[in-house]
Amino acid sequence: MSNLDLEQLREKVDAVNLQILSLINERASVIQDIGKLKEKQGVDRYDPLRERHMLNLLRENNIGPLEQKTVDHIFKEIFKSALDMQEEDHRKALLVSRKKKAEDTVININGETVGAGNPSFIFGPCAVESQDQVSKVAEAISGKGLRMIRGGAYKPRTSPYDFQGLGLEGLKMLKKAADQYNLAVVSEIVTPSHLEEALDYVDVVQVGARNMQNFELLKAVGQIDKPVLLKRGMSATVDEFINAAEYIIASGNDQIILCERGIRTYEKATRNTLDISAVPILKQETHLPVFVDVTHSTGRRDLLLPAAKAAIAIGADGVMAEVHPDPAVALSDAQQQMDLNQFDEYYDALMKFMKQYEMQV
Ligand code: PEP
Ligand code: MN
Repeated sequence: MSNLDLEQLREKVDAVNLQILSLINERASVIQDIGKLKEKQGVDRYDPLRERHMLNLLRENNIGPLEQKTVDHIFKEIFKSALDMQEEDHRKALLVSRKKKAEDTVININGETVGAGNPSFIFGPCAVESQDQVSKVAEAISGKGLRMIRGGAYKPRTSPYDFQGLGLEGLKMLKKAADQYNLAVVSEIVTPSHLEEALDYVDVVQVGARNMQNFELLKAVGQIDKPVLLKRGMSATVDEFINAAEYIIASGNDQIILCERGIRTYEKATRNTLDISAVPILKQETHLPVFVDVTHSTGRRDLLLPAAKAAIAIGADGVMAEVHPDPAVALSDAQQQMDLNQFDEYYDALMKFMKQYEMQV
């Protein structure tokens, strides 16, 4: 074969490549139209019967020289690329998606603008245990000029024999302490049936890690007119976390704060593994404020400060940590709550850190 022949054949291959490119792009745009139709009709994007039919048709018409299994392989890839593209379009269309809304969602909680650029802080005991307990913590929080207090009244405990929380009575105590010190109440609700009674006492409804995929609860908090602090499930992927938030926004409530609280891994040095990279991913993918709960992610008092610094440095909109007047006798999470002195030291150190890098509260 002369060099000229080779050149001509190569030109032919280039031309065929371009034809294939143009055809698979044409195919992709038809698939996009199909995707839009399916979305409107609420039909699943992947249809195995349809895929089988297309493969059969190709088999019947394959005159070679390509072997059938090669043709199957190539077309499976083409089918998959179209499906990936539809998934991507679908993700961009999510209401929580940054592609859908470019600006940050800013939530006003008791005069505190959450998500506006400066970190916010939520402190308070793991569980509400007594009026005196929550009042002491509320006083310490308000002494720092902060605006929110947390405390669990309905506690989702791993064991049914562990302290289950004081329920509505606990919420009333928390609200009383919060009112006295002009704080907003952040508290977990575990079932839609508690929501109505709780709303008189709660300013921010927390959906806990164990309930991140309690879809009925997500839909219920989607119908209220109060901010929701949604915690990441302990074995939830970022994608599942984003979809849980989508449940809330799709039901009408866009005041959502995402909270990374560590995920379960094989690592035992910490209670959970703080997935710090989830913070910038969630900030990129969604327009929602993102918090980091340093208490439940690390489960270690000595790691609360470095984890909070990391959270702020990586762009978190806020940090949550647990504070109890006497952690040694706390009814839950005794290992990891800060006492009031440790709280002072922790907050001072965090403020110093932020000042050093010219960040503001
Ligand atoms: C909590 O914040 O009180 C709590 C129980 O945390 P999580 O749902 O993240 O375990
Ligand atoms: Mn706790």
